[in-house]
Amino acid sequence: MTTTKLDLNQCNQLISKFEQVIKTPIKTPSSVYYTGVDLGTACIVLAVLDENYEPVAGSYRYANVVKDGMVVDYIGAIKIVRELKAELEEILETELVYAAAAIPPGTNELDSGAIRNVVEGAGFELTALLDEPTAANQVLNIENGAVVDIGGGTTGISILNQGEVVKVVDEATGGTHFSLVVAGSYKMSFDEAELYKRDTSKHKELIVVLKPVVEKIASIILRQINGYKVEGIYLVGGTACLGGIENIIEKNTHIPTFKPINPMFATPLGIAKSC
Ligand code: ATP
Repeated sequence: MTTTKLDLNQCNQLISKFEQVIKTPIKTPSSVYYTGVDLGTACIVLAVLDENYEPVAGSYRYANVVKDGMVVDYIGAIKIVRELKAELEEILETELVYAAAAIPPGTNELDSGAIRNVVEGAGFELTALLDEPTAANQVLNIENGAVVDIGGGTTGISILNQGEVVKVVDEATGGTHFSLVVAGSYKMSFDEAELYKRDTSKHKELIVVLKPVVEKIASIILRQINGYKVEGIYLVGGTACLGGIENIIEKNTHIPTFKPINPMFATPLGIAKSC
């Protein structure tokens, strides 16, 4: 069965519950907790699920310790994951033992080893290390389609056929390019542009300025999915938060394009579900 917009409702319910528990954690005791650790370029997210795989708590922090799937500040990454873990343990009044993590498509053995070491170095027992599109698909449940993960440095395009990942590519265009365009257009520093871009109240004006970059991403998607059966495009990753990005991609690819209510949380929740 192909994922439809209706099926995204389930994913959206999970994400919406996760957003709620980030603000107000659920302290009902559980026999076991599963933690998903998502080490992103812009943000580190921890998602905690209970014995029924329902979200009970979560936390995230913007950080610059990972770049395009490579841990560039190993000590800094361990410190942040350890702090987020301790913060959640205090709230839930329990020790978080098990965690899963994910690696971006094309990550080599050395980098995936570094991600493993960060999670274990922060005090978790790592139960699974999976690739990001497979993780995202744990909550998207796509049969025949493409997961397009628009991150910071890159855009990962993963094609799923009958629920299995059949092709993965990582292309060097992502949120950083968006920020460079914003910086140039508004005469801001890169850091100022990054913050300006994340402000959702600015998205309506920004989407006009950023349209050419989004169109470039759409052309990359079209090139990569050529020859595959792609019934829908599903956007995840921080840059997919940009309001209106899905309309431009749909218009340029002529393929129905969807995104969860918060595209940043699909992968961490999928990781936690795989724990
Ligand atoms: P990469 O795949 O390059 O390693 P990543 O998967 O680690 O990146 P994410 O954390 O998914 O990256 O996304 C980071 C990007 O998302 C950054 O460019 C950041 O500016 C952008 N971003 C985060 N929040 C928003 C938002 N609300 N609106 C627009 N862009 C956002």
